[in-house]
Amino acid sequence: MKEETKLIQNILSDPLTGAISTPIYQTSTFVQEEPGVHKGYDYTRTNNPTRKVLENIIKDLEEGYAGLAFASGLAAIDATVKLLSNGDEIIAVDDIYGGTFRLLNLYKKLGINTNFVDTSCLKNIISHISSKTKMIWLETPTNPTLKISDIQKISLNVKKINSNILIVVDNTFATPIIQKPLNLGSDIVIHSATKYLAGHSDVLAGLIIVNNKQLYDTLKYIQNSTGGILSPMDSWLTIRGCQTLYLRIKKQSENAMKIASFLKTKNIIDKIYYPGLISHKNYTIAKKQQRYFGGIVSFSLKNDTLYAAKKIVTSTKLFKLAESLGGTKSLICQPSTMTHKSTPLDIRIKTGIQNSLIRLSIGIENIDDLIHDLNNAFLLL
Ligand SMILES: *Cc1c(COP(=O)(O)O)cnc(C)c1O
Repeated sequence: MKEETKLIQNILSDPLTGAISTPIYQTSTFVQEEPGVHKGYDYTRTNNPTRKVLENIIKDLEEGYAGLAFASGLAAIDATVKLLSNGDEIIAVDDIYGGTFRLLNLYKKLGINTNFVDTSCLKNIISHISSKTKMIWLETPTNPTLKISDIQKISLNVKKINSNILIVVDNTFATPIIQKPLNLGSDIVIHSATKYLAGHSDVLAGLIIVNNKQLYDTLKYIQNSTGGILSPMDSWLTIRGCQTLYLRIKKQSENAMKIASFLKTKNIIDKIYYPGLISHKNYTIAKKQQRYFGGIVSFSLKNDTLYAAKKIVTSTKLFKLAESLGGTKSLICQPSTMTHKSTPLDIRIKTGIQNSLIRLSIGIENIDDLIHDLNNAFLLL
């Protein structure tokens, strides 16, 4: 079977009733025949049949050993950091998701330190590796300038130095439709399923996929010990979202490419960030590593002011002004005053988040309508 078919067909009907849609097992506990004798489920924090279906879907999509579902992306990220101990160090991508940056800073006081480096250049990683390094944390593409890191090259070279260093990839922006990091040599993949996987801006969810049993057992133990699990209802919403993932990613990537090309024709635009454009600084590796270029496009204005960007983000009608991304509906945001407002100014400028930067999360609407909407907003400048 081809991937698209497998995704749908691997979601089995309910063995008990034949229900074609996965039942929502809204229950905290399960009746036992004798103490310890049950059907594989004893308490929903430990195991739940609806959550299990989702965990199998994402395991198949990422071609991993097993999956684990959490209450949010950050709950999944937190569980992963808990693999480490006092004194261990992480090397992470410098323009990492703001919430992950905040979490990693919190871990400093527990003795787990992070070095933030530009991971799109391998030697920045290699030169920071020490005997304390236990984890490399990648996001590719990054938010909002869509910087790409070469997962295969990094995994290969880091493992040559020390095969015990774990390679973690936050695959939220790409999704397994675009790239499968485990096949490129990483050990752990993380998703904020809140974004593309659930895909309808109606649920918060996080996922971890690992490539071996030992990592799975340890993370399963951490998940059960800390309790940040995904509820049965939210598991069901995420299962439903995943079923259309192929269609959405394909359409959103096609729309995004057309919007990036449209932006190139506009005089008021300064920089355009889209990995599908030859002018993007990581175009070559994006083309090699990714099946599509994704649904996020960012750009800055020649008039690099907060005011000019605000004028645009408040003038579009179809593009709704909101944080988050990856849903069916197109969104627009101004990172410098919204998603990245707590990032220190010097880091903000260094990572390309200038005052006028605007990020688009492209939805599944008709491309002509989306371009028309942006064009109307540009005319007001
Ligand atoms: C949104 C996001 C997260 C955090 O996920 P939540 O579901 O909001 O907790 C982590 N990483 C990336 C890349 C994200 O975009």
